Amino acid sequence: MDDLIRIKNLKKNFPVQKNFLDLLFAGAKQSYVHAVDDISFEIKKGEVLGLAGESGSGKSTTGRLLLRLLEPTDGTIEYDGEDITNKPYKEMRSYREKMQVVFQDPNSSLSPRMKVGDAIGHPLKIHKKLSTVQRKEEVLSLMEKVGLTPADFLYNKYPHQLSGGQSQRVVLARALITNPEFVVADEPIAMADVSVRALILELMKDLKKEFDLTYLFITHDLSTAKYLCDRIAIMYLGQIVEIGSKEELFNNPHHPYTKALLSAVPVPDPTQRRTEEIPRGEIPSAINPPAGCHFHPRCRYATPECSASRPPLKNIGGTQYSACILE
Ligand code: SF4
Repeated sequence: MDDLIRIKNLKKNFPVQKNFLDLLFAGAKQSYVHAVDDISFEIKKGEVLGLAGESGSGKSTTGRLLLRLLEPTDGTIEYDGEDITNKPYKEMRSYREKMQVVFQDPNSSLSPRMKVGDAIGHPLKIHKKLSTVQRKEEVLSLMEKVGLTPADFLYNKYPHQLSGGQSQRVVLARALITNPEFVVADEPIAMADVSVRALILELMKDLKKEFDLTYLFITHDLSTAKYLCDRIAIMYLGQIVEIGSKEELFNNPHHPYTKALLSAVPVPDPTQRRTEEIPRGEIPSAINPPAGCHFHPRCRYATPECSASRPPLKNIGGTQYSACILE
């Protein structure tokens, strides 16, 4: 299978805003949030790659970089063999049609003053020359496919008149209306009620088949990643610490952070509980990340060597890679 997305040594640093006192002192050094810190991976055509980790690990920033919604500090982004890292805004237009995003909170990504039909059809206005009647036909047909029924009735509703599940379906439909190839789904079910989460995941699976999609599925919840993804990359403080097929990661996790995350996943059988400890403390600030392995202050296996240098991702068999000196 060919790669649809390939990123190499991608970095994103955000300058930290100085307060008044800092500005008074000449020579106060500019500091940066190292949100994405030198990561490389590829996503094959038709694959679902999960990007999992705690809040603040850089998952969402990575998704935005791939779509060129943010400019990288360093590194390269390839789409279908084409380097798009520095493509000018105008040239990115044809890619925007093929690359779409579904954000976490449907309420903040839908205009309260735009009717459902207009919101879904809006990208068509930008990317395709269609008559009003043709546009409406396309929107109604897609609304049926994503389960927004009766489509005729919901077409003229406003977002506040919809349930949470319906709103998320509107956001999905809006992302798919241009017939994209690649969708970044950024915690798409995090805001949904428990009762509709499974339905949305099921729908995403069906839509992937029907539209021949490739997904980057961003989540903090490994159980949903297991359900939807083919491969999963685990991110910690801007870096990828482990990546592999979901079977490899769930059956044979290697990195201590992956093991800790998995120990937090609820299992229906109490005798099958994993015994790995949840890491101590919270994820440190990405302004001054710990030296060497960023995970060392929270790792129960840490040795002095761990803070000396960053362990590289190492193949540990099959398609599994882990960044730990224990490998
Ligand atoms: Fe833990 Fe050291 Fe491995 Fe990092 S490199 S995960 S600190 S054992």
